[in-house]
Amino acid sequence: MKHTVTLIPGDGIGPEVVEAARRVLEATGVEFQWEVANAGAGALEKEGSLLPESLLQSIRKNGVALKGPTTTPVGGGFRSVNVALRKALNLYACLRPCRSYPGIISRYEKVDIVVVRENTEDLYAGIEFEKGTPEAEKLLAFISQNQQQEVPQDSGISIKLISETGTRRIARFAFDYAVANGRKKVNAITKANILKFSDGLFLEVCRQVASDYPGIEYEETLVDNLCAQLVLQSHPFDILVLPNLYGDIVSDLCAGLVGGLGVAPGANIGGEMAVFEPTHGSAPKYAGLNRVNPMATILSGVMMLRYIDEPEAAGRLEAAVAEIVAEGKSVTYDLKPGRSPATAVGTSAMADAIITKLS
Ligand code: NAD
Repeated sequence: MKHTVTLIPGDGIGPEVVEAARRVLEATGVEFQWEVANAGAGALEKEGSLLPESLLQSIRKNGVALKGPTTTPVGGGFRSVNVALRKALNLYACLRPCRSYPGIISRYEKVDIVVVRENTEDLYAGIEFEKGTPEAEKLLAFISQNQQQEVPQDSGISIKLISETGTRRIARFAFDYAVANGRKKVNAITKANILKFSDGLFLEVCRQVASDYPGIEYEETLVDNLCAQLVLQSHPFDILVLPNLYGDIVSDLCAGLVGGLGVAPGANIGGEMAVFEPTHGSAPKYAGLNRVNPMATILSGVMMLRYIDEPEAAGRLEAAVAEIVAEGKSVTYDLKPGRSPATAVGTSAMADAIITKLS
């Protein structure tokens, strides 16, 4: 069966890593029809919009997209193209598996953590009031009246919004993922000891959902303590479920545990569609140099293969990537000792090496 997939090259290093991923995905033998669509700074230049309606339509129609990182120009009308895309398509779950592969230089071994980040709420909901505006002043006056405490009138305000509905669906997603993937434990990460009505609600709902899954162990950890434990690696974490902002930060931390942003894949998943993309950004200083690691985007492609029900090809591709990094010869600079470019290969050569393992 041929799969029609929306292909979003993105900005900066995006086109290079997406092209590498497209070639290895085709080399698995799975048939694809790619529908190329633009988002980000490139789309603004070509089509006059950072997030063209044609792109959203393509993803809605195909139900699946492979995306390169995008750049959001300052003053482009959006806080972030990615946040806007996830909200527009209601891609409420951000899934980031962080797994050690032998051969990758890292301070840690045998890490296997899945970060499940809520993607639509929290401080990322985009509800903000600029210092000095009439709206900010009105809100500050309301807060002063209702909280029995003075708040500085020269404050800017960003609202942390956590809903019961939003939490229930991300908690269910985390537990369903645990069941479907044979994982043992879900850990809810908050700062509920301080943020009683936002993180407190998140925790309360996670507890309720946990009670529906007696076969999965449930734990709770405060986000500051989690960070210390992750760095010390004294705790065997499994699946972490987090509100948006903590999820964003902890995803990058976990990427660091397994070798850096160049190796960390991701997916943004909603009820009916999913967009697969690496954790890293568009790294503009490396754009066009054929230097950066395509592995994060290729592993995002592996996740996509599983999503479109091609598990055999996904397994073969993941094994081919693992073999190449274990050999350590045909890999990019970031996977070489001392991050040395001297013996490293470029983005496309690393993809070629992976393809040889598939044939
Ligand atoms: P970045 O992830 O683009 O780059 C930070 C550093 O990480 C790079 O300088 C490089 O050293 C390393 N790196 C990133 N990708 C790599 C790869 N594939 N291989 C090897 N090393 C890699 O983060 P940034 O510089 O903070 O952001 C640059 C732009 O990307 C910004 O415009 C930001 O908004 C955007 N961004 C987009 C996304 C997305 O589209 N999903 C995510 C994060 C950031």
